[in-house]
Amino acid sequence: MSKLDVLVIGGGIGGLCLAQGLKKAGVKVSVYERDATPISRLQGFRVHISPEGSTALHACLPPELWMVFNRTGGAFVRGFTMVTEQLKELLHATSDDDGTTDQPIARHRSVSRITLRHILLSGLESLESNVHFNKRFVRYEKSGGRLVAHFEDGSTAEGDVLVGADGVNSPVRKQYLPHAEPIDTGVTIIGGKVPLSDGALALLPARLLDGPVVAMPPEACSLFMVVWKREAGGDEYLRLLGLDGFIPEDEDYVILGFGAKREFFGFRSDPLTMRGAELKDVLRRKVTRWHPSLRKLVELIDDTQIALARIRTSEPVRAWTTTRVTLLGDAIHSMTPYRGIGANIALQDAALLCAKLGEADRGERAVVEAIAEYEAAMRQYGYAAVASSLRAMERATGEKGPAFGLTKTALRVMNAVPALRRRAMTA
Ligand SMILES: Cc1cc2nc3c(=O)[nH]c(=O)nc-3n(C[C@H](O)[C@H](O)[C@H](O)COP(=O)(O)OP(=O)(O)OC[C@H]3O[C@@H](n4cnc5c(N)ncnc54)[C@H](O)[C@@H]3O)c2cc1C
Repeated sequence: MSKLDVLVIGGGIGGLCLAQGLKKAGVKVSVYERDATPISRLQGFRVHISPEGSTALHACLPPELWMVFNRTGGAFVRGFTMVTEQLKELLHATSDDDGTTDQPIARHRSVSRITLRHILLSGLESLESNVHFNKRFVRYEKSGGRLVAHFEDGSTAEGDVLVGADGVNSPVRKQYLPHAEPIDTGVTIIGGKVPLSDGALALLPARLLDGPVVAMPPEACSLFMVVWKREAGGDEYLRLLGLDGFIPEDEDYVILGFGAKREFFGFRSDPLTMRGAELKDVLRRKVTRWHPSLRKLVELIDDTQIALARIRTSEPVRAWTTTRVTLLGDAIHSMTPYRGIGANIALQDAALLCAKLGEADRGERAVVEAIAEYEAAMRQYGYAAVASSLRAMERATGEKGPAFGLTKTALRVMNAVPALRRRAMTA
């Protein structure tokens, strides 16, 4: 019989992974998510899962869901390539270089966010482990030794521990650690999706069939491209989730993400109010001198699938006094997407917090002591990931200037030396 009763605010990647792990460990958990239903919002596109994220999922998911996760990933995940805007190769590294290719668990994966969400929600509908939708958290209060969460609809929920897994705008963080608010980096990403038709395939840099490709022009911007294509046979495993081997919006595609400082785009009106066709026009103007294949790819972006993201980043905050309220994922260490690790760090948080709360539930240590150990470790690796993601963004969108010729030469030298390529893969 579980002694602890854990409330998780936010049913995103981190919150649901924690709930799966606590359920597996026999700890009572309830998730409160503001979305009206599991599918009321498009969950975004493909996501890179690192060896660390993969290990965390393996720890938290029950074996049958791990098997579905393991078999429904995407193809083309071994490599990472940098090219010029004329598609000349600067650097190509593969997971052979960091030794993860043959790892059954701890390896790089390309995963559909929509599929991952279905996996993470699966089995959480029972009375013991519940996900409550349409519950917008507004505040919490302490009542005796318990925590009471208040929701917009006037309802409340009570538990022993409250975890804010409610993303970059976290209302739990705003109340608990108001000084830990993320800052605007000034960088905007315009992202879009191109269906993976034969026509699109013919335009793609060949390296895209090996993993993500980043185009680095001499100007202060970059273009990220990656193909999402489910590996052969994966659809069969979706049936184990009660899905019909097919998920709408989850067909094969290429993602393009063009990032730069806001002023670089020369927006003529507020970009947040611009329609897809207008955003595409902005992109079109920025690539007029790029390789014809890249220009054509931009033309092929589906106007209804163009999105704009203003990139924010957390700033490390000093250690706080631990209580029974804690935070995980973007709620406490939001990072730029330029290393593709934010979701992985959220998963790592979930697995670690789950292990610590499991120890507290079994009476092996006090709850606050268990949370303190989680927070001390999380601040270390979480803020290190924030810093390296910020550096990656600055390299990709900062002024490159005349030294860019030297950078290109350095990248080509790295490309020729296996030990340096290995460092590029793990940097
Ligand atoms: C363009 C882009 C590309 C990215 N690519 C990658 C990648 O390849 N790999 C990677 O690892 N990371 C990537 N990331 C980062 C990654 O998406 C995030 O780090 C990750 O989603 C964080 O997970 P989370 O669970 O902390 O928060 P979220 O996934 O944001 O989940 C938070 C949840 O809380 C809910 N919520 C919010 N407010 C409330 C409330 N008041 N009450 C109840 N519920 C609430 C939300 O609805 C949501 O479901 C990318 C990010 C961007 C912007």
